[in-house]
Amino acid sequence: MKKSETGFITRIVTLIMVCVMALSLIPNVSANAATTSKSTAYKSTKTMTCYLAGRERKTITMPADIAKISFGSQSAVKMRKASSRKVVVSGIRNGKTKFTVITKDKRRIVCNVVRTTKFTMSPSKKRVINTNIKLKYVKSSNTKLATVKLAKNKKSFTVTTKKKGTVKITVRYSNNKVETLRLVVAHQHTWKTVVDKDEWDEPIYEEKPIIEYHAAWPDGTYADELDDSGAKVQWCIDHCIHCFPNCPDPDPAGRCALQVCQSASNPVIVGYEKVQTGTKHHNAVTHQECTTCGARK
Ligand SMILES: [Zn+2]
Ligand SMILES: [Zn+2]
Ligand SMILES: [Zn+2]
Ligand SMILES: [Zn+2]
Repeated sequence: MKKSETGFITRIVTLIMVCVMALSLIPNVSANAATTSKSTAYKSTKTMTCYLAGRERKTITMPADIAKISFGSQSAVKMRKASSRKVVVSGIRNGKTKFTVITKDKRRIVCNVVRTTKFTMSPSKKRVINTNIKLKYVKSSNTKLATVKLAKNKKSFTVTTKKKGTVKITVRYSNNKVETLRLVVAHQHTWKTVVDKDEWDEPIYEEKPIIEYHAAWPDGTYADELDDSGAKVQWCIDHCIHCFPNCPDPDPAGRCALQVCQSASNPVIVGYEKVQTGTKHHNAVTHQECTTCGARK
């Protein structure tokens, strides 16, 4: 073998090896792509809002195990994952933040958390407010509207509402900070969907030509009576000086019935009509209304 031939074979072998290596890489690349698209495809996204009254601490339970959780700012509300499904949120100062959970069954849940000193309860209801700091005392400004009772362990208090109105609840925490919560005793809006306009299908029209078929002379004059060949021959016998120079009643225009165009090959647009070609669907127009007071949103 000559030296140049050896070099040629070496190059061929190298080329084949490169091809084999490239081919072996392809399945890996596509497998990675599949994994990436899968991890961003959520079955659903749900947004919820959680309100905290003052230094209230709440445990929020997710509908499935948490695979991933990310927290927004921790300055208004302290948030932490407490167990596989539970997230504990604690009000620090008024403001809002959020956390986002991806569950193991691929649901995405965005939870807005609002720390506020105002809250609403319906009349004749009881609510236990757990706090993230021990309490020294709680007091209601109007016990006819709502009463408050400190728990023995001083880690919570119970609010019991009676009648509609606004009540100030003074809370002193173990660090001696005093906070006034404003409780509005009112019905809580019960939203229902009101349909303003039912869904409807709007017809879509198109102008379509109305077509008739007519036998006609070259100038367009209809000659339907001359549509069949027998009638044409008879016409020529009577009127055509070309076919029958001695015809009894020559046509003044000197026409021949053979010039008549047959109806089957002479469509004539005689007008236009509106024809429904489809429909456009419109969704119902709705709004939300409170079933108790009629408030809208
Ligand atoms: Zn209402
Ligand atoms: Zn003729
Ligand atoms: Zn429809
Ligand atoms: Zn409306």
